[in-house]
Amino acid sequence: MLDKRKFYINGAWVNPAQPHDCDVINPATEDACAVISLGDQADTDAAVAAAKAAFGGWADTSQADRLELLNALYSEYKNRAGDMAEAISMEMGAPIDLAGTAQVGSGIGHIKGFIKAFENYEAESAPWPNSPNERLIREPIGVCGLITPWNWPMNQVTLKVVPALAVGCTVVLKPSEIAPLSSIVFSEIIDAAGFPKGVYNMVNGDGAGVGSQLSSHPDLDMISFTGSTRAGRLITKAAAETIKRVTLELGGKGANIVFADADEKAVKRGVLQCFGNTGQSCNSPTRMLVERSYYDEAVEIAAATAESIQVGDPAKNGRQLGPVVSQAQYDKIQGLIEVGMNEGRLVAGGLGRPEGLNRGYYVRPTVIADVSNDMTIAREEVFGPVLVMIPFEGEEEAIKIANDTVYGLTNYIQTQDPAKAGRVARKLRSGMIRVNGLDAAQAAPFGGYKQSGNGREGGIWGLEDFTELKHSTGIQD
Ligand code: NAD
Repeated sequence: MLDKRKFYINGAWVNPAQPHDCDVINPATEDACAVISLGDQADTDAAVAAAKAAFGGWADTSQADRLELLNALYSEYKNRAGDMAEAISMEMGAPIDLAGTAQVGSGIGHIKGFIKAFENYEAESAPWPNSPNERLIREPIGVCGLITPWNWPMNQVTLKVVPALAVGCTVVLKPSEIAPLSSIVFSEIIDAAGFPKGVYNMVNGDGAGVGSQLSSHPDLDMISFTGSTRAGRLITKAAAETIKRVTLELGGKGANIVFADADEKAVKRGVLQCFGNTGQSCNSPTRMLVERSYYDEAVEIAAATAESIQVGDPAKNGRQLGPVVSQAQYDKIQGLIEVGMNEGRLVAGGLGRPEGLNRGYYVRPTVIADVSNDMTIAREEVFGPVLVMIPFEGEEEAIKIANDTVYGLTNYIQTQDPAKAGRVARKLRSGMIRVNGLDAAQAAPFGGYKQSGNGREGGIWGLEDFTELKHSTGIQD
């Protein structure tokens, strides 16, 4: 079993102030694969103090110096891609091929995307030609706490650490205690890249401990959080006393509107996307809304697609779905499948493990048809491979159903009529819209409306989220 008890504070690997062991469970075997420490207030304080002491010096470094370090981070991250894929696969169950491509690759894409955005970034501007001595100045907000989940570990860590360091902030990262191993590799990468001590710190811990200690810490200027809406609410409350900035990337219950004139692969594509990463993505298209005239056919395609999906050992090569992350998630998903089976019509999957698997948190890819949007299974985020199908009549009803949710992260549209796609996209209340399976450009803004959060990660918006805006009159270059 791996011993990963140390934290990375002030440029060194250090023991926790008090021992507090926590096993990391491999979801494919249900066995412990590593032991970490859960930090306490003393560890949190030490990391925050290091980040605070480093802030002034780091904020004063030049953009060119910081870019050089980000480029070193980029090469070092690529050098460690194999170790990173193994860590991610072991800690959260992503099949090794998916871990090596999409999971590790998301980090590569974000680091590169931020480097490009930062190359063109201008911290100072003089936007009023008639007032040449007025300046807008973007400055680093200060010392930031970064709290991340387990489902796309490096996607979320790089979306926070890289822009924060780029603009001159210093950080304390608290990764998910369920999937901390990838962040330990990431901390080694930061160390090898040569960032000055104290600029980046990492403390493991749980939400009630290090998570809430960071949220309420008087010496932090900002918390950037990705995770559940539940935790986002608690963090916002804990941060209120010190009025620190809180940016939140939370859950979703994305609608995938399939019009009768959708291309023939649309339904299959939607099912596969919903089940990608074993359904553990906040932007999954989990509610498939299908125009009534195409609905019966769509249900058949969806059921056949779900039944054709292989589920199995993440250590093996291939495109199979891995297990879900933990016993708690497995139990929650089983409970919601049961609710869904009572509310709608089960057409694929169902309760229990897939045939032939009796150990590991494996879930059957499940499709529940004839769902209406007021049912629990249409309202709650499942975070597992479970798709619901809802019929609709016409554009207006589709928009109404899609928007009838507390979430607003990503919605999807399938139609071969570009005018319709444009009309519907403009009416959907979500931070992201994806039409006909077209993916986003590198460094596009990622974030949600309503209870899916606030702030935008990625590209120039992701950089600006970590800055304060200063306006001054009467100054010159
Ligand atoms: P979680 O909210 O339980 O945990 C996320 C992180 O928050 C972990 O590091 C955890 O230790 C910490 N945390 C938990 N309670 C806390 C508290 N009270 N104070 C401070 N920190 C606390 O979520 P999870 O189960 O790890 O992740 C799954 C959830 O994340 C899903 O709801 C999913 O939709 C959401 N998510 C959203 C996005 C997005 O970008 N919108 C991306 C990935 C995941």
